[in-house]
Amino acid sequence: MNYQPVIGLEVHVQLLTNTKIFCGCPTTFGSEPNSQSCPVCLGLPGALPVLNRKVVEYAIRAGLATGCEISPRSIFARKNYFYPDLPKGYQISQYELPICVGGHLDIELEGMVKRIGITRIHMEEDAGKLVHGDLPGLGDGSGVDLNRACTPLLEIVSEPDLRSADEAVAYLKKLHQIVVYLGITDGNMEEGSFRCDANVSVMPVGSETLGTRAEIKNVNSFKFVKQAIEYEIERQIDLIEDGGKVVQETRLFNPDSGVTRSMRSKEEAHDYRYFPDPDLVPLVISDDWVEETRRSLPELPEARRIRYTSELGLSTQDAEVLTSSRELADYFDACLSLGCHPKSAANWIMGEVTRGLNDKGLAIASCPVTPRLLAGLLGLMDKGTISGKIAKTVFDEIWQSGKEPAQIVEEKGLLQVSDTGALEKIVDEIMAANWGQVEEFRGGKEKVLGFFVGQAMKASKGKGNPAVLNELLLKKLKGEG
Ligand code: ADP
Ligand code: MG
Ligand code: ZN
Repeated sequence: MNYQPVIGLEVHVQLLTNTKIFCGCPTTFGSEPNSQSCPVCLGLPGALPVLNRKVVEYAIRAGLATGCEISPRSIFARKNYFYPDLPKGYQISQYELPICVGGHLDIELEGMVKRIGITRIHMEEDAGKLVHGDLPGLGDGSGVDLNRACTPLLEIVSEPDLRSADEAVAYLKKLHQIVVYLGITDGNMEEGSFRCDANVSVMPVGSETLGTRAEIKNVNSFKFVKQAIEYEIERQIDLIEDGGKVVQETRLFNPDSGVTRSMRSKEEAHDYRYFPDPDLVPLVISDDWVEETRRSLPELPEARRIRYTSELGLSTQDAEVLTSSRELADYFDACLSLGCHPKSAANWIMGEVTRGLNDKGLAIASCPVTPRLLAGLLGLMDKGTISGKIAKTVFDEIWQSGKEPAQIVEEKGLLQVSDTGALEKIVDEIMAANWGQVEEFRGGKEKVLGFFVGQAMKASKGKGNPAVLNELLLKKLKGEG
């Protein structure tokens, strides 16, 4: 029997707000345990939550960028459960009426585009964190750190439309890119700002009914998602082949062993006794607010890729690289608006700029060669003031000193030599010193021209104008000059 895997993902995105979702505590990562919590985070009796407007704005952004409907009215609900990292005994989330519904994301795999449904996006608060081991000031044991309690999350739930681990990873990467572009999260997966629960089931190929799913909790790297899903598919197929049955449960993936193991049997929605939170009024969002947010959305990576290929004539691959991060694409766009030729700016950014950044471990935002300086450099090249070879030297010099390209060219005497008289002298000398090759050329071996161009460039210390040199050489080699 052949089996068809089915996957649906629930992604938690931690929002980049300064304060928490229902109180004014800061959201900074890595602070002293329990230094960022208040009666609201703890749910002490009498404390009242107040919704952070920024969280709603970010949720609307995410919804619009993924083609969702924005609900004009949505409700916060209490999801009741007991756990030591949740002192108030319930998590404030959204249940029946979430803020966004019915969106989609198009993924591309091996040249094929596939649309993945997004069931819903809702806002919720995170729980605290249990810490085990040697606790500062307390000795060996377990403790609760409530700094993370009440930090704002979006939960983005996909339809069970994914059919392989590779599709799941493609979906996640795309979603990650979008939420980071939107500026609503830092997307830091190691710190858990973007993590996913993967629901996996298998069914016989051709079946209409989905199999029973297991949910793998909190996977926080693309690599682990792929490993965890692939392991889980194998495990379920083996189980069924051996006459067993998949049970609905929550499982954990262990990256060290590469296996998933059962954590608890799956609770049903009714176990949580969801009910509308009486402390929070229904959230009403006006059309104006939605439209205003729509207008403020940045150009998303997909739209940018299309613009780069169809309007600027770049290759799909170049467009892919340039849009891989918003900062890189912004840098490229800044060069364009300063008049750079698209292809040449793209080549320099993907070449020299990226190489320099990688060498120094820098982000594009702190690149010492700003778009303005790069545009200046490329301008000098276009005008023929400097050769392409010299441009690389000038680039390094800008990187080191931050000086203006024109100033460097002048100070170092790097002006391109296009003066025929000066270049003619060089050509004559080189021909005289390499008479054997001149004869070869005249005997029909035209490839030797390359050798002469190389020699002439070297003799001019890279400053000779290659076009003029080429022309001169051809004329003289053919015995016409
Ligand atoms: P819960 O919170 O109980 O996990 P949700 O509705 O939030 O429920 O999420 C369910 C997720 O599981 C969705 O992403 C959905 O696409 C996925 N899913 C549902 N049924 C299956 C199935 N049979 N196989 C794989 N994934 C499934
Ligand atoms: Mg779930
Ligand atoms: Zn607080």
